[in-house]
Amino acid sequence: MKRALITGITGQDGLYLGELLTSKGYEVFGLVRGESNPKAAAVAQVLPQARLLAGDLGNQESLAAALRAARPDEVYNLAAISSVAYSWENAGVTADITAKGAFNLLEATRLYAGDDPASIRFYQASSSEMFGKAHETPQRENTLLWPRSPYAVSKVFAHYMAINYRESYGMHASSGILFNHESPRRGNEFVTRKITQGVARIALGLQDSIALGSLDVSRDWGFAGDYVEAMWLMLQQKSADDYVISTGEQHSLRELLEIAFSRVGISDWASHVTIDVRFARPADVGALVGDSAKARTVLGWKPKVEFQDLVHMMVDFDYREQLQKLSSAAV
Ligand code: NDP
Repeated sequence: MKRALITGITGQDGLYLGELLTSKGYEVFGLVRGESNPKAAAVAQVLPQARLLAGDLGNQESLAAALRAARPDEVYNLAAISSVAYSWENAGVTADITAKGAFNLLEATRLYAGDDPASIRFYQASSSEMFGKAHETPQRENTLLWPRSPYAVSKVFAHYMAINYRESYGMHASSGILFNHESPRRGNEFVTRKITQGVARIALGLQDSIALGSLDVSRDWGFAGDYVEAMWLMLQQKSADDYVISTGEQHSLRELLEIAFSRVGISDWASHVTIDVRFARPADVGALVGDSAKARTVLGWKPKVEFQDLVHMMVDFDYREQLQKLSSAAV
């Protein structure tokens, strides 16, 4: 039975990855920060077999202890301060966790692996935000990086540290440069979920409008459940490497709004959307779209869920959830 340690198991990707690895017969260990993390209960519900270990990416001793307890064959570093918006207000803590925290885990893993650094396979969650303003379109593994937020700068540091540990110490460290991926488990603070929750609440008469920073945004959006499969595939390869994971399709925020609102029968979506500059990014990225040809050829990976189906999945989930809240409030 293989053993895997997942940091960020309470997050969107951590839960999907935990489910995938469990279905493949892994023994799953998850790092959870804080004495009484409220999200630990949700993890226990979805992944009752997983063993949760206390730890924080900012505390290297806790990482060493988690490695000793888990004795993993594979380590997936999904933990991060992951919100671009939050990172401008909290650049220091973003650097501490998203950048230095990744180093802490790489170093703890290297020390734990001892004489055989490649014996533990390591996954680093890199991000398309590293491409920032984008030197070329579509973006590939060798596209120059141009990070445009404290989050992206921190991810660049972590990305190069993973490469550095691979090249310097022979660690089996791979990075997935993942483009945006969403699901009903996406945090409420992210724009896609803010929209699908807002649409559900508007349809139920609980809210009038959704405030957004800008509508001139285009992204390459995929389904998180598909993307965690790519993470696992990377660690099954003989050699470690870096891969872009994306759908290769670009969609605008306007398109997303139109699909989401029409799912609940509202056609004049523009009358339910307001622009609030407080939500605009100080420096935005370009129109990001990924070329995942390498992952498709080498890993045999491809996304399964289409954009429209993804938006429907999220709206349907949020509609059911809001309806349930309404019914329990009425009882
Ligand atoms: P989430 O924001 O849903 O999850 C982040 C996780 O990191 C949470 O489990 C959180 O725990 C944990 N975490 C935060 N700080 C610490 C810390 N100090 N010590 C230990 N754990 C910590 O992110 P996603 O699941 O969406 O993304 C997974 C990874 O992939 C992240 O690194 C993200 O930056 C990256 N990524 C995501 C993309 C996307 O579109 N989703 C695109 C590209 C990269 P807690 O519950 O305690 O807050």
